Amino acid sequence: MNSYKIAAIPGDGIGKEVIAAGVEVLQALAARYGGFKLDFESFDWGSDYYRKHGVMMPENGRETLKSFDAIYFGAVGAPDVPDHVTLWGLRLAICQPFDQYANVRPTRILPGIEGPLRNVAAKDLDWVIVRENSEGEYAGQGGRSHRGLPEEVATEVSIFTRAGVTRIMRFAFEVARSRPRKLLTVVTKSNAQRHGMVMWDEIAAEVAADYPDVTWDKMLVDAMTMRMTLKPQSLDTIVATNLHADILSDLAAALAGSLGIAPTANLNPERRFPSMFEPIHGSAFDITGKGIANPVGTFWTATMMLEHLGEKPAAERLMRAIERVTADPLLHTPDLGGSATTRQVTDAVIGAIHGDNV
Ligand code: NAD
Ligand code: MN
Repeated sequence: MNSYKIAAIPGDGIGKEVIAAGVEVLQALAARYGGFKLDFESFDWGSDYYRKHGVMMPENGRETLKSFDAIYFGAVGAPDVPDHVTLWGLRLAICQPFDQYANVRPTRILPGIEGPLRNVAAKDLDWVIVRENSEGEYAGQGGRSHRGLPEEVATEVSIFTRAGVTRIMRFAFEVARSRPRKLLTVVTKSNAQRHGMVMWDEIAAEVAADYPDVTWDKMLVDAMTMRMTLKPQSLDTIVATNLHADILSDLAAALAGSLGIAPTANLNPERRFPSMFEPIHGSAFDITGKGIANPVGTFWTATMMLEHLGEKPAAERLMRAIERVTADPLLHTPDLGGSATTRQVTDAVIGAIHGDNV
């Protein structure tokens, strides 16, 4: 029997609530179908840890994580700790050294969920956003001089390397090729950002030559927000920089119904390091502790983790169970206009797993 070691890092806020739900659902799935076993180890890293120890995770944290097959991550962010400390201290402190350079973000309108695009059928919105996850605007380069003085200057330097852009572009063309429509949209802002973004466009054209079966086009990021809203059916796979894709994927999630549904995988495609799976939302302190966080994004994320581990049938079964639950409006959490709790949705998904006869 295949057995996998999973590091669970719930982090902060509703991260703790949704990861607890996700672990329960995954254990129910493994128990129901057998065939594989999941060994979870949970790490209490995050803002509570920071308040006690002055760091978000211990110094040997990354070394510890290396031996795991995957990381199941909640969210970081607390009202009393600066966001750049929580983000760089934990999430990016894992993504960057583990070279998880491909961030994959599927978006679909799940059964029973009505997005704000009421005239758009669910089948017309089925996207995968590929986010460059290692450089660009989040390279961490820049600085501040004359702090606090009127002449203060702060720079935030975007770094794009030929190697980094080429590998994400190849990855995106591969994703596009694996999907029925074989359609890729390359997003930049190469009219205003005339160095890195122009190189993106050039590399896209070079890589495209190796994928004659993929139809591709280019969009500027501002116009892209309009196209996503007005012509969702014209898009399929999308590739964009770290910052642009971050913004576009929150829009995508909202168009599909809620940020609470959206999953993501931070992949190290070469598998030299563990990959990390998380819902795309943050710690949501406005609803923390209320028991109403939507766990669907965390469950969908689990299907991506299972697929990465090679357990495709289990991933498909879990997706079916999730869709059976979203189809029932009585099982929608408040972000979807319903009044169900995290507990009720979790129990319903576990129930659907047990009820599935396939
Ligand atoms: P957020 O994603 O936490 O919340 C945005 C809005 O969406 C809130 O109204 C929230 O209640 C709602 N929401 C999010 N997830 C939901 C869910 N599962 N169910 C129901 N409603 C949900 O973003 P924010 O408010 O901008 O940031 C809060 C904190 O999270 C900040 O500290 C931020 O830095 C951090 N953050 C972390 C990550 C991450 O860990 N990957 C991502 C984004 C934001
Ligand atoms: Mn984001």
